Amino acid sequence: MVAVQKKYLSQFTMFGTVVTITLFAPNQPLIEQVYDYLVKMDQFFSMNRPDSELMRINQQAGHAPVTVSSTCFELIQAAITASRDYQDSFNVLIGPLVKLWQIGFGGQQVPSQSAIQARLALMNPADVQLDAVKQTVWLTKPGMMLDLGAIAKGYFADQVILQLQQAGVTHAIVNLGGNVKILGENPLTPTGQWVVGIQAPKAPRGYPALQLVTPAKTVVTSGIFERYFKVGTKLYHHILDPQTGYPVEKPIEQVSIVTTSSTLAEILSTVAFFKGATAGRQLIDRLPNVEAIFIDQNQQIQTTAGLQHLSEGVYAYE
Ligand code: ADP
Ligand code: MG
Repeated sequence: MVAVQKKYLSQFTMFGTVVTITLFAPNQPLIEQVYDYLVKMDQFFSMNRPDSELMRINQQAGHAPVTVSSTCFELIQAAITASRDYQDSFNVLIGPLVKLWQIGFGGQQVPSQSAIQARLALMNPADVQLDAVKQTVWLTKPGMMLDLGAIAKGYFADQVILQLQQAGVTHAIVNLGGNVKILGENPLTPTGQWVVGIQAPKAPRGYPALQLVTPAKTVVTSGIFERYFKVGTKLYHHILDPQTGYPVEKPIEQVSIVTTSSTLAEILSTVAFFKGATAGRQLIDRLPNVEAIFIDQNQQIQTTAGLQHLSEGVYAYE
């Protein structure tokens, strides 16, 4: 008898999004472990729970350093480092601006210029003091606020894959609300390659603009069609420019990053979104083992050098 390779999908909602874990052998206890881990992460990092570690840090801004768990310290340290490296685009201190605009959370009007200016003064990464020995985080000015929305899911995806590996799993897919990370070879294809669909910005769910044929990687997308509001014909979306305080204006609709670390992919998807296709490709082409796919307003697709165009809509990772 020919052995049939089966897939086991587990799905639940978390952080207001859908989490799907795909395994190739049944392992319910492991799924429960991942679920419990993500519940714990939600408790650490939620902006909606006043007692989360993140909110304790934000509440103590301008007052005192806060001692946090090693997980929390590690993620915040990565986020602050990225904010220093990419000051003009990625900034984890964006919290006060996100709160002001309320995009995707009921906000429907453009804030005043003076309100925006006041918030911009609270976003300097140099005003954060991290103490690795004491594991403390201190936002030194009152009103400063961390918002890990552009990086946390990537970090969790990396950690979940690590946990699956430690449990002996050799092939798996973790999908945290569209943030995908894959482990090992695909047991269902002769080449071991995987096919990851990239959703078109304006198409209905389930109609990918293209399909990426790839070994185990992470694929992370930043786009402007998930959360926004309109005033007349002008669209205000949820990726904010830390220099102007307004939603970033670029002739691009979305960027997907393909690489190994999902944390890095999250950071670079935001950075590349700001740069647009031309400068973004130059930036990504300089980084080893990172590729990007840009989709513009006219649904035109551009990729970095490592993604070779095979045929309409199908790209292969070399
Ligand atoms: P999503 O997966 O929700 O589309 P992204 O990874 O694109 O998220 O990050 C968007 C979220 O990150 C916003 O909702 C906000 O909380 C936060 N954010 C917005 N602008 C920036 C920025 N320039 N740098 C860092 N974080 C940002
Ligand atoms: Mg991101």
